[in-house]
Amino acid sequence: MFGKGIKLIKLFGFEVKIDFSWLLLGLLITWTLAQGLFPHFYEGLSTTTYWLMGVAGALGLLVSIVFHELWHSLIARKFGLPMKGITLFIFGGVAEMTEEPPSPKAEFFMAVAGPISSVVLGLGFFGVTFLGESIGWPQSVTGVFNYLAILNLILAGFNLIPAFPLDGGRVLRSILWGWKEDLRWATQLSSKIGGAFGIALIILGVIEVVMGNFVGGIWMALIGMFIRGASQSAYKQMLLRRSLEGEEVRRFMKSNPVTVSSSLSVEDLVEDYIYKHHYKMYPVVDDGKLTGCVTIDQVKEIPKEERDQHKVEELVQSCSEKNTISPDEDAIGALSTMKKNHTSRLMVVDNGKLVGVISLKDMMGFLSFKIDLGD
Ligand SMILES: [Zn+2]
Repeated sequence: MFGKGIKLIKLFGFEVKIDFSWLLLGLLITWTLAQGLFPHFYEGLSTTTYWLMGVAGALGLLVSIVFHELWHSLIARKFGLPMKGITLFIFGGVAEMTEEPPSPKAEFFMAVAGPISSVVLGLGFFGVTFLGESIGWPQSVTGVFNYLAILNLILAGFNLIPAFPLDGGRVLRSILWGWKEDLRWATQLSSKIGGAFGIALIILGVIEVVMGNFVGGIWMALIGMFIRGASQSAYKQMLLRRSLEGEEVRRFMKSNPVTVSSSLSVEDLVEDYIYKHHYKMYPVVDDGKLTGCVTIDQVKEIPKEERDQHKVEELVQSCSEKNTISPDEDAIGALSTMKKNHTSRLMVVDNGKLVGVISLKDMMGFLSFKIDLGD
């Protein structure tokens, strides 16, 4: 979901990306402001002015969300947690974590940093509004600042709802976690509250639609579905982490993996390997020596009718820490490497020799047996 997006800028070392779905939100916000909100509160301005105010309002929203996520990221970095970057998507923003917070204290401060920053920014916008009004700025300008001030307070308020993985839910989890020193229980309880809140929003959304507020109701239901899904997947991920902790990669890897030679044509790779074994990644081995790997993403770049004219050696990706892992490493390490590089398979390499392949699917399978056996 957060894989693709347009890079905007780099802030304090964090990459800010914008998902295509945010552009849709931006257009929707601009339209709502220019056609509904601003003409309602500030009468008698020209249509062009309303549209300019709408664009400024949408850009202000973008800046406000980035500001909020930036503070999550800055505090996370203070606690030594690696952060990947900030992605804006249709339900707002997300500061991408590659690991769980190290302590309840770290999680608490990371989580509250966002809403506090939004409150401060909101108050700042209120200040600018009052200043502008007192020195006679045009209504079109103060109107936008006033809107941004209120918006930031709403942003803070919404995020503080105690539904995991919203900020408020993270605050709740950190308190529960610190109290009983049981991360699993804390995550389970706060995820359940998050899920229940999501369902409540869906029901409210449906009621709104029935009552005639179509757009508002649909938004509510969509946000409810998003929160419900996110809280469930956050809990599952935590379970996976817990059960993988302290387990070595060699326990999950498949020895004797299917390999290909670099002289194989891409056509044969597709027909004899991809369609036969259904793997997304194949190590490339020539005369017993590992040279790298080839993935389905690279095959996709070659047009179908040209596959027989190309060989695997043109596509081979050399071995790096992005696609390999040592058999002695912790399985959690494999999981974060996969997450960081948006991949689900890694080559297991010992002293330059290929000893196996580890896949997300196999790790998930292990988890389901563990849950089944109640271990
Ligand atoms: Zn937040």
